[in-house]
Amino acid sequence: MSENCIFCKIVANELPSKKVYEDDDLLAFLDISPLAPVHILVIPKHHIVSLQDVTDSDQPWLGKMMALVPKLAAENGCEPGPDGGFRIVVNSGQHGGQEVDHLHLHILGGPRPWSGRASLTA
Ligand code: 5GP
Ligand code: ZN
Repeated sequence: MSENCIFCKIVANELPSKKVYEDDDLLAFLDISPLAPVHILVIPKHHIVSLQDVTDSDQPWLGKMMALVPKLAAENGCEPGPDGGFRIVVNSGQHGGQEVDHLHLHILGGPRPWSGRASLTA
């Protein structure tokens, strides 16, 4: 756990969140400021700043995280098939538009148009 990290505090239940999935490695919860009808954040429970800090040893939980995406999307209102689907976004670093410095994957879905920051929804 990293002090002053809001996502570590969510993992530790020191801040509230609307959780939609949890296991030993990963946590998923609703974004506090949704940019699409479905907007879920998936994070590793341990603190890692961004995708720039990932190494080969991170492959197991990263693979698990990616494999979890379609399941969470389907369970939380993303429509299936070619007329539905979802977008995933992983902002990394300042140039990548990252605001919270704990690696997170956005799942965005639901009927368009979406009304949000262009960096995530365009
Ligand atoms: P970033 O721009 O870093 O990729 O995205 C950070 C995301 O975290 C934003 O979409 C923002 O709405 C969300 N967020 C920031 N603080 C909180 C919080 O305390 N709780 C939840 N659920 N989401 C948060
Ligand atoms: Zn953290």
